[in-house]
Amino acid sequence: MRVAIAGAGLAGLACAKYLVDEGHEPIVLERRNVLGGLVAAWKDEDGDWYETGLHVFFGAYPNMIQLFKELGIEDRLQWKEHTLIFNQPEKPGTYSRFNVPDIPAPFNVITSIIRNNDMLTWTQKFKFAVGLLPAIIRGQQYVEKMDKYDLLAWLEQQGIDERVNSDIFIAASKALTFINPEDVSASIPLTAINRFLKERYGSKVAFLDGSPTERLCQPMVDYIIARGGQVRLNAPLKEIMTDEVERVTGYLIRGLNGAKDEVITADAYVSAMPVDPLKPMLPKAWQAKTFFQEMCKLEGVEVINLHLWFDRKITEIDHLLFSRSPLLSVYADMSNTCKEYADPDKSMLELVLAPAKDWITRSDEEIIAATMTELRKLFPQHFNGDNRAKLLKSKVVKTPRSVYRALAGTQSVKPTQKTPIDNFYLAGSFTKQEYLGSMEGAVLSGKLAAKAIAQDYLAAKPINQETAVAAI
Ligand SMILES: Cc1cc2nc3c(=O)[nH]c(=O)nc-3n(C[C@H](O)[C@H](O)[C@H](O)COP(=O)(O)OP(=O)(O)OC[C@H]3O[C@@H](n4cnc5c(N)ncnc54)[C@H](O)[C@@H]3O)c2cc1C
Repeated sequence: MRVAIAGAGLAGLACAKYLVDEGHEPIVLERRNVLGGLVAAWKDEDGDWYETGLHVFFGAYPNMIQLFKELGIEDRLQWKEHTLIFNQPEKPGTYSRFNVPDIPAPFNVITSIIRNNDMLTWTQKFKFAVGLLPAIIRGQQYVEKMDKYDLLAWLEQQGIDERVNSDIFIAASKALTFINPEDVSASIPLTAINRFLKERYGSKVAFLDGSPTERLCQPMVDYIIARGGQVRLNAPLKEIMTDEVERVTGYLIRGLNGAKDEVITADAYVSAMPVDPLKPMLPKAWQAKTFFQEMCKLEGVEVINLHLWFDRKITEIDHLLFSRSPLLSVYADMSNTCKEYADPDKSMLELVLAPAKDWITRSDEEIIAATMTELRKLFPQHFNGDNRAKLLKSKVVKTPRSVYRALAGTQSVKPTQKTPIDNFYLAGSFTKQEYLGSMEGAVLSGKLAAKAIAQDYLAAKPINQETAVAAI
């Protein structure tokens, strides 16, 4: 069966990968000249990589880890020490660690919390643990019900005090969704905590050994092409063409640089585009359907990814760091964490600026100046005094619409991969799957879309054969 897929992010590529595994023929059509969507990366004029986002993988990413194995590239995941590291704003230049011992879950995570005395007092730890009990005992069902609350409201209801919020949850919320606890659905951090409490290595972090475009997306493309699929760059979907019964009849692809538009036809069609460009493309007749109306309530959230190259080593830490800064979210010195970006003498800090609503339209210069002010607090030893670290160059990548804005109430409007249109499917980390707006969520959504297509194809097959027999 031929399947046309719009979008070569992780969801579109994963969908194509699992379709070729089932013997189908996917053709992936990507708008841009680069693979990966939100994991896309480019080389600058000096040959240094810069990326759409600082990306880490977690032990609790079963579908992603399985994909690495299936592609034969699992050695590209560089696993780090099992710990979570937070900056301490009240003690500039110092860190607080949650070291997770190698014992079964949930005792490993609980021990890491008990042993950390920098951030929480015993009373706060106790209240935090009691507050989490319903999620631990009643599991994912409870977690999903809590979507009606924003995180701040849920914390208040559980009697968890403001200090736990400011110490842990602001950092977690910004890292997971790029928004603050007063906006984020309570079910988002609860989902992450639940996974970390269930899996021995769930909260262990890995970095890819190079750029996601080359080291992850390209092997997916090679795999797809070797098995009869196609991946085309510079092929933007312009229109979803439909017939009078609302089924898709073709994907109209915009011709670039004076070329004519082209119609791609297939047996089934997938949108693996983000929700924002999909919305205005929905055919008129589909817009009246509740399924698509609910989906249209989702929208992407602003985020900014910064790269700062310095003339010296700023830190030796080979890990993800939670900045706990009002401006920044997580960051890492990629010259330590990533093999291909390694430099023994200089640092390349990659930092996520979130929430970025008030920054997305500002100039790169303003953004870098504000970040440098934050770095003076994070690394006072390098950015104060006479011998300050020198910024050699920088790159700012702004994404005005990234992963969906995970507000309270949004979990219930996430669409399934199967849609009310019988030859049209969705993939993307914004669709319904149990792993948030993440790389794992994107891969799982692509897998689920491929599964739905394969199942519908099998279910339709006997009918077609009967029709064929009747026709004979
Ligand atoms: C700054 C940042 C940091 C992040 N950090 C992490 C992290 O540490 N860990 C983690 O797990 N996740 C992280 N994420 C989230 C993760 O990157 C995304 O959830 C995931 O990559 C989304 O994949 P996707 O395929 O669903 O969507 P996308 O990557 O958005 O892919 C959609 C594709 O559709 C294409 N497209 C759009 N319009 C058209 C059209 N008209 N025709 C054809 N193609 C079109 C786009 O160009 C794009 O390639 C981060 C994201 C960002 C932005």
